[in-house]
Amino acid sequence: MSGPAELDIPLDRPGRTFGAMRLPWSHDESAYGQIVIPVIVINGAPGPTLLATAGVHGDEYEGQVALSDLARDIEPSSLRGRLIIVPAANAPAAAIGRRTSPVDGGNLARVFPGKGDGTPTAQIAEGITRLLLPLADFVIDMHSGGRTLEYMPCAWARLLADKDLRARTLDALIAFGAPDAGVVAKPQAIGTFLAAAQSAGKVAISTELGGAGTLTPYSLSVARDGIARFLAFAGLTVLKPLAKQVRLLAVEPRHFVRSPGRGLFEPATSLGQSVAAGDIAGRLHDIERPDRAPETIRFEAPGIVMCRRVPARTEAGDVVAHLGQPSTREALL
Ligand code: CA
Repeated sequence: MSGPAELDIPLDRPGRTFGAMRLPWSHDESAYGQIVIPVIVINGAPGPTLLATAGVHGDEYEGQVALSDLARDIEPSSLRGRLIIVPAANAPAAAIGRRTSPVDGGNLARVFPGKGDGTPTAQIAEGITRLLLPLADFVIDMHSGGRTLEYMPCAWARLLADKDLRARTLDALIAFGAPDAGVVAKPQAIGTFLAAAQSAGKVAISTELGGAGTLTPYSLSVARDGIARFLAFAGLTVLKPLAKQVRLLAVEPRHFVRSPGRGLFEPATSLGQSVAAGDIAGRLHDIERPDRAPETIRFEAPGIVMCRRVPARTEAGDVVAHLGQPSTREALL
């Protein structure tokens, strides 16, 4: 069923329009309150529609800043097509810099395509799926590591069985032009916006642009440059970006290293480092038991360290690092 989310602006108005997607949220502090999610639409000459989202996780800041800048700065007259920007998709989570929503604890990247009669977070997903996604030819959903993870700034994609969509997705990933790109060749996770966009047949990519709950000049430059290049790839601008060398890194479940228990994780590697199967990923210290030697944790597979956990304190099951295995466009097709 359709949910209560509504747009307060028309999406075909020429030029630049700042508006919002709104849904009711009645709570103790506001009987007739709303969740207000900023939406910016920029219409140029006739052409394709690109939907760009960030802030699906509220503690991932690179995309939120890069897309807000883009929304203000891009000249409508320079566009051949329509750009729809949602810089903080889970607005309540973004407002407090948390991964999940303070409204209902919802993780917006686990509830797509959403549910019209669901929780507020599921209603946000349903609103984006119903009101914005059908208009899009291209989708980019910008993520980062958030407060608990740090990534080498990279683009990210998952590949579906459809061969033509696989090829176009890889082309989009390479066009984004980040030095590295993570590719999930056999995706299992569902509930992400990326999965919903691909199910709808869109050419859709994501990113993992740094993280650690902070911003750096480098991660923001990868974000800004990448979105400009993706606009050109989609045909919305006439910019002809220089081809960039992009290292494709295939990511599989065996590449994830998890903590076996509670303790302080001492990493043995740095982001970008190349490791072999059996190499030491780090040591887990039990500070309450200094008489016990720390536990050695090893990589199961070879690869490049793409991601690390930020807080040293870990619990059983926490991902402390993950790898990607260098691959090629041909091998991934
Ligand atoms: Ca994320």
